[in-house]
Amino acid sequence: MQNFVCATCGTQFNATETPPANCPICDDERQYVGYGGQQWSTLDRLKRAHHNRLETIEKNLIGIGAEPTFGIGHRSLLVRSTSGNILWDPTFLLDETAITTVRALGGIKWIAVSHPHLVTTCVEWSRAFGDAPIYWHTDNRAWVMRTDGPYMFWGGETCALGFGLTLIRCGGHFDGSTVLHWANGDEGRGALLTGDTIQVVSDRRYVSFMYSYPNQIPLNAQKVTHIVNAVEPYAFSKLYGGWWTSIVAADAKNAVKRSAARYIQAIQPSRV
Ligand SMILES: [Zn+2]
Ligand SMILES: [Zn+2]
Repeated sequence: MQNFVCATCGTQFNATETPPANCPICDDERQYVGYGGQQWSTLDRLKRAHHNRLETIEKNLIGIGAEPTFGIGHRSLLVRSTSGNILWDPTFLLDETAITTVRALGGIKWIAVSHPHLVTTCVEWSRAFGDAPIYWHTDNRAWVMRTDGPYMFWGGETCALGFGLTLIRCGGHFDGSTVLHWANGDEGRGALLTGDTIQVVSDRRYVSFMYSYPNQIPLNAQKVTHIVNAVEPYAFSKLYGGWWTSIVAADAKNAVKRSAARYIQAIQPSRV
């Protein structure tokens, strides 16, 4: 029995003798099946071909990302707090480099995920760090593909972990799409960790909001406005998306607002 990992989205599944027939996450209209059809790997196989890079991004924030990339290819973020560390959107690769380095930094107290595209091998990470609870919004519960983990399903709009760490349900991309507010980030000005619930775009003064990124399906104005309103009560000047270069480096809260205004303007029915 093995826990197979989908090659397109990087999600690890319940243990089976043979690879699952399909990946429901990639069959969904927000994702896709790769050109060569559904492919699978395992963590052991991936460990032989990939290694992790860990890099301090700012004080108390460490990026962990595999090279070469695999699946959706995001990097995870480890936020350090006075009470312990939180791992946000785990990367698929749990290797000795990551385990040794993260242990030296105090381990992992909580794991939290933004949405089902960026969960990868979260149960493996949890087990390696004392069964750290995996915070997962209950509106996304149907997308749990590996069920034998210590999930902490939370509902409603926010989940305060304390120590300046708050999970905020924004919805949009998925009903339970979540961001993590880190009040102590950016030297106390605050930072928002967003995965692709709020997606940093190539012009890093802006972000975007989509139902599907690979298939380019937009959200409606109501859902975009909901995202902006969900983060409005929180101060943040930096915003970290799911990839190494996905960073709004300054004035991030206004970047979210002006991006939403531009987006809503663009999807308005044209007046002739
Ligand atoms: Zn998949
Ligand atoms: Zn996504």
